Amino acid sequence: MNDANAYNIWETFTDEAGLAVVLDEHPEVRTLWERRGKLDGPIIINGVNPILHVLTEAIVETQVQNDDPPEAKAAFNRLQKQGLSLHTARGVIAAVLLPHIFNIIKEKTSFNNNIYTRQLKLLGKDFGKVGRNERCPCGSDKKYKKCCLPIAGDLKVPADPGKLIVGANFYSSLDYLQNLPPDSTLIQLENRAHIAEYLEEGDVEGALLYLRENVELAEREYQNLLVNALQDLQLLCLNHPELSEEGLNINDRLISLVSYEEKKVYRCDKAELLAAADDLEKAEKEYEAIFEDYPDYDFARYRYALLLDKYDRSKEAERILRALMEREGEIDDETYFSAQALLEDINREN
Ligand SMILES: [Zn+2]
Ligand SMILES: [Zn+2]
Repeated sequence: MNDANAYNIWETFTDEAGLAVVLDEHPEVRTLWERRGKLDGPIIINGVNPILHVLTEAIVETQVQNDDPPEAKAAFNRLQKQGLSLHTARGVIAAVLLPHIFNIIKEKTSFNNNIYTRQLKLLGKDFGKVGRNERCPCGSDKKYKKCCLPIAGDLKVPADPGKLIVGANFYSSLDYLQNLPPDSTLIQLENRAHIAEYLEEGDVEGALLYLRENVELAEREYQNLLVNALQDLQLLCLNHPELSEEGLNINDRLISLVSYEEKKVYRCDKAELLAAADDLEKAEKEYEAIFEDYPDYDFARYRYALLLDKYDRSKEAERILRALMEREGEIDDETYFSAQALLEDINREN
């Protein structure tokens, strides 16, 4: 194959129609796709490259739409007749195409359209049981061993063609996600949280867009996961002082959704967000109110000390921590050890 063929396959990357179909099935990759130019290097999240996933399926969709090569559309139709969804059928073909793309990228070889189209002819046919001396299932009239047997071994279709899972356990276990159809919005919810985590390193705005989308999706479809989605967004706001105003709005919503007992943690978050929004006085008032409403919640005192230390009031922080540590045995272990570690930090700095 010559370089012209190699060029043709890259050209399909920019075909908007094919890409649009695939991004509609993976809406959680859309923002990443749009922002990919701002990010360094290949985007690999927990070992998965969502851009490559979408690209490969988009090339297949373009091949089907343009009927070029015609074997792609024929295989696509054949797989659908066997009961596969559009997305899954596209995923099967994409799995065949992917090793060719790797060869182009890594080995700098040109695209081998000949082998690819021969592989496409085998897709959806039961060539596993064909004898070596029987007629080749590709329809060539040659013996299988002299025709497609050597390339059939490369046809490894993944267990879940088309499905994109970039992580698990933020909202759902991997087992559960693996049993969902590839277009499931729960997979999209999970994926967005992992994409946001990835983006937070160098693209906080992108991470923010993703976590906002998850709040909207949870509101629409997963009310039982709304608190989780709001927590993720609030955490991002807590990590980035410039987002403290949005964090306070999210915090209001969280406080309105949870029980009296659960509110105590979010009220400490609120104080932290108030301080980040340049209102340390309000933050301190919030802590006074927390101590009054939850007198046994010792961890709030540790968090208050943490806040004071952060705003250069380490002497006051130290007093609070010492008072906590004098109550060893009476206060819970987490509070005790957190207080001890912070006190050591403060002493080291001074
Ligand atoms: Zn053949
Ligand atoms: Zn897919």
